Amino acid sequence: MTLHIPTNLAVELQKESPDYEFVKNEIVSWFNKSNGQVFPPYDQLSDDQRYDIVVWLSKNYADFAEFLFTKKPTLHPQFHITMSKKISTIAQHHCPFCTDTFPMSTIPIVLPPHSYQSTNAKLKRAFLKAILYRFQEMPPGSHYLGKKVCLHVVFVMAKSRKDKDVDNMAKLLLDGLKDVLFSDDKEIVHLSVVKIQQQDPEEYIYVNIRESNLPNNENVFSEKLHHSFAVPVLDLKDFLEDVDNR
Ligand SMILES: [Zn+2]
Repeated sequence: MTLHIPTNLAVELQKESPDYEFVKNEIVSWFNKSNGQVFPPYDQLSDDQRYDIVVWLSKNYADFAEFLFTKKPTLHPQFHITMSKKISTIAQHHCPFCTDTFPMSTIPIVLPPHSYQSTNAKLKRAFLKAILYRFQEMPPGSHYLGKKVCLHVVFVMAKSRKDKDVDNMAKLLLDGLKDVLFSDDKEIVHLSVVKIQQQDPEEYIYVNIRESNLPNNENVFSEKLHHSFAVPVLDLKDFLEDVDNR
């Protein structure tokens, strides 16, 4: 049997910023109508009732799924005139996970990237001081202190210089940005790091930051996981002994 999604629900789901409270309540009344039930509005559902709806939606997922996705036109960079154009295009990417309702800032830091692991203590301190200096005149509105953030970093390195690991460069940079651009590394809910090596000696960093709505989960009907993995469940305790005996 094909499930016929109510028109107003389908329309809302296809909007650029759906009203998720409306969506959830429409799903409940759609469920009620289709199953002869009288479940209360979304906010008053018991866990069991919510689970019943999840099971029903999952069973009919194939018919429902086409309304859960939208096609958004994104500009995909295909060709670049110069390396700096390529780099700045990559630095200004749109995040596929965190929605674009918040403004984003693309901030250049014209300082060669350093690696947390291979940089000595004195250089590390100098690097952190340089970052602090770079951000001392940022207008207050451009800070993300106390907010959950999506961070996209591009390290631009000269091919002539020793290659570095992206994770180690990111670690030192994040140390520098902590309490400067955002409150704590823990506030980063999405981190993406890109390394670009290019011919010129110039080296710099782009930081693209935006507030992330990823942790809201307002676009999720049931916040319980409801999954089963078809792979073994791993427990560190089972492997501790092997490590000790080595
Ligand atoms: Zn993101």
